[in-house]
Amino acid sequence: MERGVSVYTVGDLCKKCYSCVRSCPTKAIQVREGEAHIVPEYCISCGLCVNMCTQDAKKIVSHKDEVGAAIAGSGRVYALLAPSFPGAFLDLDPGCLVAALHRLGFDKVFEVAFGADLVSYRYKKTYEHILKQERGTFIITSPCPSVVFYIEKYFPELLDSLAPIVSPMEATARAIRGKIDREATLVFIGPCIAKKDEAKESETVDYVLTYQELSDLLEGARIDPATCEPVEFDPPHANLGRIYPVTGGLLKAADIDSDLLESPVTVIEGPERVRDILSVLSKLHKEGGTPSYRIYDLLFCEGCIGGPVMMNNLTFFERKKFIVRYMTNRPLITDLKKWAQANVDYLDIDLSVRYTPKKGALVDPPAEKIQEILAMTNKFKPEDELNCGACGYSSCRDKAIAVYRGMAEVEMCLPYLISKIEQTVEDLKTNQARLIQAEKLASMGQMAAGIAHEINNPLGVVLMYSYILKDELLGNTGANEDLDRIITEAERTRKIVKGILNFAREEKIDRSLVDINRLVQSSVEGALKGHPDGLYGVEYRLDEKLGLQSVDKNQIQQVFDNLIKNACEAMPGGGTLGVSTKEKDGSFSVCITDTGCGIPKENLSKLFSPFFTTKQVGKGTGLGLSVCYGIVKMHGGSIEADNNPEGGARFTVTIKKTHTVEDGGSVVIDSPEGDNNNE
Ligand code: ADP
Ligand code: MG
Repeated sequence: MERGVSVYTVGDLCKKCYSCVRSCPTKAIQVREGEAHIVPEYCISCGLCVNMCTQDAKKIVSHKDEVGAAIAGSGRVYALLAPSFPGAFLDLDPGCLVAALHRLGFDKVFEVAFGADLVSYRYKKTYEHILKQERGTFIITSPCPSVVFYIEKYFPELLDSLAPIVSPMEATARAIRGKIDREATLVFIGPCIAKKDEAKESETVDYVLTYQELSDLLEGARIDPATCEPVEFDPPHANLGRIYPVTGGLLKAADIDSDLLESPVTVIEGPERVRDILSVLSKLHKEGGTPSYRIYDLLFCEGCIGGPVMMNNLTFFERKKFIVRYMTNRPLITDLKKWAQANVDYLDIDLSVRYTPKKGALVDPPAEKIQEILAMTNKFKPEDELNCGACGYSSCRDKAIAVYRGMAEVEMCLPYLISKIEQTVEDLKTNQARLIQAEKLASMGQMAAGIAHEINNPLGVVLMYSYILKDELLGNTGANEDLDRIITEAERTRKIVKGILNFAREEKIDRSLVDINRLVQSSVEGALKGHPDGLYGVEYRLDEKLGLQSVDKNQIQQVFDNLIKNACEAMPGGGTLGVSTKEKDGSFSVCITDTGCGIPKENLSKLFSPFFTTKQVGKGTGLGLSVCYGIVKMHGGSIEADNNPEGGARFTVTIKKTHTVEDGGSVVIDSPEGDNNNE
């Protein structure tokens, strides 16, 4: 749980939708391992995140237990009911609610609207003269704790302009403590989460209940307010202060008119507008200039009846109707002077407050850091910044800044995640195809190796006796020719069997340091010897930094021979052979391309199977590529076949480097994984 503010996150319930980040006016939410936690230092307790979170992961610190214990105890406990209550407990005679509170255990029930009257009167007395000034300073008035926290944390330069008069809750509590009962436990009941934090700071009010918490307590005690016999609030009674919770209520109650066209007063509500006007006023404060208004009355919600925990989903206008109806049903003193005479006992209460600047504003990162963070989610140019808002921040730049400050995580970017998932799915598909292929070849290899072993023995016997017979029949030319034929064919069979064993990786590899570039060049030269000059052109792109590599020279030569032979066979009328080598990421690769017929797509997955050939009988055995496959695998590498976009085939052999040549030419050979090798 976050300490310090009255809202906290239940991590397990957080489903990474970032709607709380989106709604938070101060971006006080830190995403840690996908969970969105509130950072008290930056939070202004507005409660917007509580309402935005559809998963119920944002909770409000409850005072139900403490209040329950207080009313069960022997001390006096008083309820201070916020003026917005008629908009929460609809169609209920206010007297019934007062009676229900008494039944619950409260000794007295006061209307906070009385404190609002006190505050309004103080505003009127203190600031009336400002309204008459042509030019001069401005003041900010606000009964809203979130606005006060906002200014304290983010616009401390404006604290001198914030009217140092307490809120109606605090005024009511001070009136009770000063004139009625110093010791009682005071419980404020209202629509606001920030009040819990305001009360914690001032320590005049002991506990704050939301209307919902009150309803829960009433329900727990099986009290239905509608069935209670109505009683009056305890005095002092409220007057115009009852209008406080609707837009501009403070000013109306203070008889300061904000409705006039040329009014020196403006009422501003809502987080964005409050932020905008505070930015404007801050600039004015720093740079000088004439403010448009003398008094700026600010509220974070649309009136307190728009508070975050009002208990019902009525609109502002519907709730306002209930407030106005309550007000007009009661006797009112519209003349402030007369009201002051009637309440003269309370006019000397100290309603002053001292604001303290609090650390809240965050440091901006240098431009290159922002660029660096943007690049982590593939945003290299301004066009790459989609500003889609999915992360909760209104722009990619804002999110990058939050990442720098440790408030957001790189992975919060939805478009980036989608592209990453697409890439992963693509990689998985390729890997799956490779695995299927490898498995197929492995089982084939097992069978082929079994057969090859079985054939090898009788074949050896045939060859041995053929040679013995040849010796015995010395001079019999006819029989000798026949025997030579037997021997040639048996030797050919042995070669095939050796090829099969090679594919099945039954051979051991004998590593030495080999110059790969020279090796592939010698294979090309050997292959071209048998062809007329000029039939094949060769394009080399050799990475001369490749140096010596630890491989089985004879076997790797065999791989190059086979690939180059195939390439030439694919270009019977001549063409260009491409040979390139490259070193990258601890591996080296050799790529052989041709400009021949290419490989039909459906054959790509069959090429490395033993005996797969598209060549005429007698021309191809279908063993060349399977042998290559076996040899490369024994070296712990891979071989890939593909078609060039511009035509012809491309075979790439990639082998992990297993040695380094250090300065002075001494050679270190690491013990290579995958030698002799099980993949
Ligand atoms: P063989 O050459 O005896 O047919 P390989 O295993 O060497 O056996 O090759 C198998 C098959 O792969 C060939 O028959 C041919 O269809 C295809 N192939 C190999 N290399 C190429 C290439 N460079 N261009 C087109 N097809 C090729
Ligand atoms: Mg071949």
